[in-house]
Amino acid sequence: MYASKYNLVFDAGHKDQYLILNPLSGAMDLFDSRALHLLSNANEGNAQRALPDFFTYCNERGYLYDAPSGEEIRLKEIYERSSELHDSEPLRVEIYPTFLCNLRCTYCFQSHRMHGRATLIRPEVIDSMFHAISVYQDRLGKSQPPILTLFGGEPLLNRSKQREAIGRVLGLARDRGYRIRIITNGVHLGAYAGLLAKYPIDFIQVTLDGPREVHDRRRIFASGSGSFDRIVDSIDRAVEKSLRIVIRVNIDGDNISLLPQLAQFILRKGWLDKGVAVGVSPVDEFVPETEWCAEPTKIDTLKKLLNVKRDHKETEFMSISCRLAQFFEYIVDNGRLPFPMIKYCPATMGNQISLDYGGNFFVCCCMNACEADGSPQGRFHPAVEVNEDLLVRWKNRHVFQLSPCRECPLALLCGGGCTRLALSGCECGCGDLQDAVACPPMMNMQALQSLVDYYLPRILEAQANESRSPVKKRSSNL
Ligand code: SF4
Ligand code: SF4
Ligand code: SF4
Repeated sequence: MYASKYNLVFDAGHKDQYLILNPLSGAMDLFDSRALHLLSNANEGNAQRALPDFFTYCNERGYLYDAPSGEEIRLKEIYERSSELHDSEPLRVEIYPTFLCNLRCTYCFQSHRMHGRATLIRPEVIDSMFHAISVYQDRLGKSQPPILTLFGGEPLLNRSKQREAIGRVLGLARDRGYRIRIITNGVHLGAYAGLLAKYPIDFIQVTLDGPREVHDRRRIFASGSGSFDRIVDSIDRAVEKSLRIVIRVNIDGDNISLLPQLAQFILRKGWLDKGVAVGVSPVDEFVPETEWCAEPTKIDTLKKLLNVKRDHKETEFMSISCRLAQFFEYIVDNGRLPFPMIKYCPATMGNQISLDYGGNFFVCCCMNACEADGSPQGRFHPAVEVNEDLLVRWKNRHVFQLSPCRECPLALLCGGGCTRLALSGCECGCGDLQDAVACPPMMNMQALQSLVDYYLPRILEAQANESRSPVKKRSSNL
């Protein structure tokens, strides 16, 4: 008998109860210590003869295989299915119409030097951008409309030329049936609300870092004054126009304790009734050396956030926007484990391109956003010229190919880590694409145990309310 290398075991918070889950098979059970002991000593023939039902059950659940080849077959199926799923997902296009910004947030991952430069995309570059998007749609064989995300700097600055540029982007996107999302600091969102309401926009993300006292220490204008009142007024004006707002709250040691106050403020505003959603992103360091795609770097921050949410029911509506928390939130919502991750992010799946005001093409949105990772992988203006070989090599990175990930028990929760970080030591940008990995700081059993402590009661409660059974309770007496 062979025990799956993806079996993960956690303390379930009750005497002699352990949660076992296997992201490859999608099984999740509560075992007692004897059952766990039998599982880890499955090769002892006496136990198998005495408790055949238990071992048959473990086999059916994917905790045990007759031989390692059984697991290999399952991994091959997952690889093939993942490739199909990734290919069927829409292309994500990150658009940087400018790097100018009116705020000087204390933790910004971009340099404020670039926020002072009066850059703006020109009309002919916008036209080339849409040409490049359709070229990529065809090259990748995508039939679904792409998802365009406007980013910056600040995409919604209140300058007439910028309003024209944004209107042109939105108009071309609407004419082609493309989906649109906007990430804005929200300062001028109110002034843009009338324009934006004319277009089919999935959502607009606005950041509020807490109640006024803490937000105004962090998200400041160049003068040092705070932006809270301007942003709140903008959200009011946007929801009046039926725009869908997602509030992002960047949480670290500085503002975590004030999360309940922000929750109460949002509830008093009645925004939830107007379709506003709120996600909390535990992020400790927004610097180019860390992967900033909404991942925490300190276990203490994650634990404090879970404690605040546990102790303050008014924060219940705020989801946690890091990938491990999303894994458990998926189980609460759907009653089953999500599909195994074999790649880390859309850039590595080959489903993302990033285009900036200067005609540059990047494979990863963070590379041009940070201005810290050297040369682009190509240009889209005046013509499309891209290092295709490099894109293929990014796309070929997955947990069955990267040697450090092949034996990692967390691989199917992780997907192989951030490619940009794995390559960050490489001067030429080609890097060691086949072997280098950067393990995400929170991808460890300690962080997972904290999340199990928080989410397991919620999973069991949802299961009891909806008569479904993602978690089975099994003892060795089967
Ligand atoms: S609004 Fe965004 S881009 Fe501008 S300074 Fe703040 S974090 Fe940086
Ligand atoms: S990047 Fe690190 S944590 Fe992630 S799968 Fe690879 S070895 Fe495991
Ligand atoms: S490679 Fe890293 S930084 Fe780039 S999109 Fe993926 S996770 Fe984000």
